[in-house]
Amino acid sequence: AEAALLQAQKVQAVGQLAGGIAHDFNNVLQAVLGGTSLIRRRAEDPSAIRRLTDMVEEAARRGEAVTRRLLAFSRREELRAVPLDLGRLLADLRDVLAATLGGRIRVVAEAAPGLPPVLADRSQFETVLLNLATNARDAMPDGGTLTLRAAAAVIGPEGGANGLAAGDYVHLLVEDTGEGMDQATLAHATEPFFTTKPLGQGTGLGLAMANSFAQGSRGALAIESEVGRGTRVSLWLPVTRAETAVERVEMAAAAGGPS
Ligand code: ADP
Repeated sequence: AEAALLQAQKVQAVGQLAGGIAHDFNNVLQAVLGGTSLIRRRAEDPSAIRRLTDMVEEAARRGEAVTRRLLAFSRREELRAVPLDLGRLLADLRDVLAATLGGRIRVVAEAAPGLPPVLADRSQFETVLLNLATNARDAMPDGGTLTLRAAAAVIGPEGGANGLAAGDYVHLLVEDTGEGMDQATLAHATEPFFTTKPLGQGTGLGLAMANSFAQGSRGALAIESEVGRGTRVSLWLPVTRAETAVERVEMAAAAGGPS
């Protein structure tokens, strides 16, 4: 539970960092646009053009530094996919989520018995769940119910939602009884930095992160929503055979330990 809270704080830190970077980058773009428009107006004055070109170049260099910072950050945490028991994970997280969401929101967490393990990075998975829960809370200012439900799902040869390949998955449903999204919001919801929340409250990264987690885990994410009724986020994660994972670890040990 403590790890999950720490994770929640990390999510907030990521959000703040992203907000700061978006702000810095916006300043850079303002300088570039201001510079080019001045250059156009002073086209007859070579010394002004030289000066303004230097200014634009300087702004672009600042932009370069901003993106370098962002890239360094995104590479900072190495992901490690391990077999996860979603039944246990949901049971562990239920109380943390309930505490995070406050007394007006009921949290229901159910997993089908005997679920096979999925392969994903545990801390990233917890971050995604906390992001989704935070969104649900924001959509239910007067309270409501957040339901998390995990069950086995088989995707046939025709494939599934959002490019999901045929195979065995665990399907996790994260559903709220909140205000829902209109079609326009739903269409942009997973884009990085897309937010309908007031400045300082939303980063627009929660669903983008959830989506990239799903894709990176060879799974998929899909969202259904209805204004006034609620939102339903579906996450599919590929099943792994625990034995295979154990075998792999043993092989690594035989080969002189994991590198
Ligand atoms: P943020 O929550 O910081 O705005 P997200 O990427 O998590 O960023 O969400 C983007 C937008 O999608 C939100 O601003 C909101 O408009 C909408 N949204 C996300 N989750 C929900 C939800 N559970 N219910 C209603 N709207 C949602």
